[in-house]
Amino acid sequence: MKTDSPIFDPEQWQLTEQQANLCALARELGQSMFAARAPEYDREATFPTENFKDLHESGLLGVCIPKENGGHGADLKTYMLMASEIGRYCGATALTFNMHVSSCLWTGPLADGLTLDDDLKSALQAGRKIHYKRIIEDGKIYAQPFSEGGAAAAGKAAFGTQAVRTDGGWHVSGKKIFASLSGHADYYGALCTELADKDDKPSRRNTMYVAIPANAEGVSVEGHWDPLGMRGTVSRTLIFDNVFVTEESLLMPRGVYFHAASQWPHMFMTLTPAYMGIAQAAYDFTVSYLRGEMPGTPPVKRRMYPTKQIAVAQMRIMLEQTKSLWFQSISEAKPNPDKESLLRAWAAQYTVMENANEISQLAIRTCGGQAMLRSLHLERLYRDSRCGALMLPWTAELCTDMIGKAALYEPDESDDE
Ligand SMILES: Cc1cc2nc3c(=O)[nH]c(=O)nc-3n(C[C@H](O)[C@H](O)[C@H](O)COP(=O)(O)OP(=O)(O)OC[C@H]3O[C@@H](n4cnc5c(N)ncnc54)[C@H](O)[C@@H]3O)c2cc1C
Repeated sequence: MKTDSPIFDPEQWQLTEQQANLCALARELGQSMFAARAPEYDREATFPTENFKDLHESGLLGVCIPKENGGHGADLKTYMLMASEIGRYCGATALTFNMHVSSCLWTGPLADGLTLDDDLKSALQAGRKIHYKRIIEDGKIYAQPFSEGGAAAAGKAAFGTQAVRTDGGWHVSGKKIFASLSGHADYYGALCTELADKDDKPSRRNTMYVAIPANAEGVSVEGHWDPLGMRGTVSRTLIFDNVFVTEESLLMPRGVYFHAASQWPHMFMTLTPAYMGIAQAAYDFTVSYLRGEMPGTPPVKRRMYPTKQIAVAQMRIMLEQTKSLWFQSISEAKPNPDKESLLRAWAAQYTVMENANEISQLAIRTCGGQAMLRSLHLERLYRDSRCGALMLPWTAELCTDMIGKAALYEPDESDDE
C-alpha cells in the first residue's frame, strides 16, 4: 500500500524532528490499522478499544506526559499536529484520544506555563506521578466529562456537579451528558464545583478537576448512544451519586484549573485536530475517486469534467486556508495570549469545524451518487464532520459571538450611558 503524504509536510511547514516523527507514527498506525476498523465502530457505535491498545503499545497514550515521567513530552502544538493524522483515518478515535490526552495536557505542559507557588508546584508533581504512572505502565485511559446540558460547559456558570468537603476527601454528585468514553475509560477526569458544605455558594473559581475511578461506588453510565456522527465516541450519560474521592484523585491542586482555563484559551482548540484530519481525508478521497483510483470502486475516471475540476479547486483552496490559519494559531499558542491571537484562535476553531463539513459535502456532490454508498468512507466523514461545530465551549455560534464582541469592544467598554 502506498503511504499517505503528511498533512503538514515536515520541511515545508518547518516541523521539529519530534513533530515529524510523532506525526509519522500516528499516520502509520492510522493508515495500517485504524482505517480498516473505523467502519465497524461507526456502524455499531462501539468504542475503538483495539485502537487504544495500539496507542498504548506505541507509546502514544503518553504523548503529552513529560519525558521525566516516561512520556514523549509533546507540547500543545506537537499534540495537535499528530492527532490530526489520527483524525484522517478514524474521527471517533481522534476525538476520544483528545479527551484522554487533555488530562495530560492540563496537568503537564499547560500547568508548566502557569505561575504557581512552591506548594502548588509540589502538589502538582505528586498528582502527576500517580496519574502518569497509570497511563504509561498500565495503559489506563482517561475521559474528560464536563458537559452538563447547561451554561457551565460554555464557560458561563459554575459546574452543577458538586464536590462537598468531608473527612479525608469529597463526596461528588452530579450528571455529565455526552461523556465520550463512558463505560470504557478507567478514570473520568471530571470538572466539578468544590463546596465547603452543602450550603456553600457555587463559584467557577472553585472548579475542581478530579480523576474518578470508573469502578468507584456511585458511578454509573446510562442512556443510549445512537447519534448522527462520531458514533464510536460512545458519549453516554455519566452519573456520580455521592462518590467518595480523596486528595489523591485531584488531577490539579484545588483552584489551579480555573487559572489554567482562564490563561490557556488555546487549550479549547484541542477538539479541532480530529476535524482537521477529516477535512484532509475528504479532499484525499475526492482526488483519488475522480482519478479512478479509489480501492473498491471500478477504475472509472471522472477528472476530465470542468465542473469537477472547479469543485476540487474550491476544496483545495478551502483546505489550504484551513490548514494555514490552524497552523498559525497552534504555533502562537501560549498562556495569556493577546487579543489578536485570541481572535485568531476563535477564527481558526470556527474555520476548521465549519470547513471540515463544507469540504465533506462538496466531496459528496462532486464525486457523485456512487461515492455516498456506505461501502465507502466518505459518507462517514460527512456525518462525523457535522459534529465539530456543536462542541462546547467553542461552538461555531459561540466563536462568532466572541469574535464580533471582541472586535467591536475593548474589555472596559460598554454602550450604557
Ligand atoms: C461527538 C461528541 C462528543 C462529545 N464528547 C464530549 C465529552 O467527552 N465531554 C464533554 O464534556 N462533552 C462532550 N460533548 C458535548 C459537547 O461539547 C456539547 O456540550 C454538547 O453537544 C451539548 O449539547 P447541548 O445540546 O446541551 O448544547 P447547547 O444547547 O448548544 O449548549 C448548552 C448550553 O450552553 C449555552 N450556550 C450554547 N450556545 C450558546 C450561545 N450561542 N450563547 C450563549 N450561551 C450558549 C446555553 O446555556 C446552553 O443551554 C460531545 C459532543 C459531541 C457531539
